Amino acid sequence: MKTALVCGAGGFIGSHLVKRLKADGYWVRGADLKIPDFSTTEADDFALGDLCNFRNAERVMSLPNGEVFDEVYQLAADMGGAGYIFTGENDAAIMHNSAQINLNIGSIAVNKKIGKLFYSSSACMYPAYNQEDPDNPKCSEDSAYPAAPDSEYGWEKLFSERFYLALQRNHGLDVSIARYHNIFGPEGTWDGGREKAPAALCRKVIRAEEGGTIEIWGTGNQTRSFLYIDECIEGTLRLTRSNFTGPVNIGSEEMVSINQFAEMIIKLSGKNVKYKNIDGPVGVNGRNSDNRLLQKELGWQPSMKLYNGLEKTYKWIQEQNERTHRYT
Ligand code: NAD
Repeated sequence: MKTALVCGAGGFIGSHLVKRLKADGYWVRGADLKIPDFSTTEADDFALGDLCNFRNAERVMSLPNGEVFDEVYQLAADMGGAGYIFTGENDAAIMHNSAQINLNIGSIAVNKKIGKLFYSSSACMYPAYNQEDPDNPKCSEDSAYPAAPDSEYGWEKLFSERFYLALQRNHGLDVSIARYHNIFGPEGTWDGGREKAPAALCRKVIRAEEGGTIEIWGTGNQTRSFLYIDECIEGTLRLTRSNFTGPVNIGSEEMVSINQFAEMIIKLSGKNVKYKNIDGPVGVNGRNSDNRLLQKELGWQPSMKLYNGLEKTYKWIQEQNERTHRYT
C-alpha cells in the first residue's frame, strides 16, 4: 500500500486531498495544528502539532521501521483571504510561520529521502505590475521575474518555491510545485475573517434581507478566476504523479469581475439583493490562470464551469449558516 503525508490536512484543500487519497487506496497521515473544521478526517493517522517546530515535523515525517513516505503533500501555511493577507497586520506571522514550515519539511524530506514532495505555491507570487489591467492580466509561469508580488504572502511563496527547487538541484529532491489560483468549494472557511471572496459573498447573500444590499470590497471591477476544489485535487494528483516539476498554474481560465461574480451568486440565490462597492483590501486589479503550460505538460486542464461549482458551494454554506443560527 502506498503511503502519503498531507501537511495542512486540517485545512480546506488538505482535508479534501486526504479523502481523495483514501479513495485511491493510500495509507494516509494528516498533520496540522487543528483537525478539519467541517468533517471528520479520513486519515488513518492524524498528527496534531506545530510544523514550525523541527522536532515535531521530523516525528510527523517518520514511519515505523525506517520506512519512508512515498508522497508528501506540503499544504500547511499561515493563510487566509484578503482580509487576512492584504491588510499588512499579519505580515510577520505569515512570513515567519510559512517559511519555517517549508524550511523544516524541505530539509527533512531530503534527509529522509522521501519519494516525492508536492508544494502548494500561489498565484499571489506573480508580479503586481503584470496585473494592473483587470481585462488583461498576465500570469504565465515565465512572467514571474523580475519578482514583485503585492503581498508578503506572495513573497514567502516565491522564496519557498525557490528553496524546494534548490533542494532538487543540490540534493536530488523529487518535487512538483503548483501555483494555485483561488480554490473554492464546500468545507472551506466561510466566516470569521480568513474566508475568501467566493465564501464571503455567498454568506453575505445568504444573510441579506429580501430587498437588502450587500457590501463588496473595492470597485468590483477587479477580476479573478476561481477553481472548484475537485479539479484542484485532480490537478494536484496528476502533477505529483508526473515527472514535471513546474512551477505550473493550477487554476481556471474563466475570468470574471468581482461584481459579475456577485451577480452570479445573487442569481443562483433567487433573492432580490443589491450590492454596493466599498473600500477594503482587494489585492491586484486583475488575475487569471494561464493553463497553456499545464495543458502542454499534463495533457489536462480544469473544465468545470464556475456557475456549477458555485451552486454546490452556495448550498453548503446555506446549510452551515442554518445550523449556526439553530444552535446559537
Ligand atoms: P487552509 O488555511 O484551509 O489550510 C492550511 C492549513 O495549514 C490550516 O489547516 C492550518 O491550521 C495549517 N497550518 C498553519 N500553520 C501551521 C503550523 N505551524 N503547523 C501545522 N499546520 C499549520 O488553506 P487552504 O486553502 O487549504 O490552502 C492550502 C495551501 O494551498 C496553502 O499553502 C495555501 O497557501 C495554498 N493556496 C491556497 C489557495 C486557495 O485559494 N485556497 C490559493 C493559492 C494557494
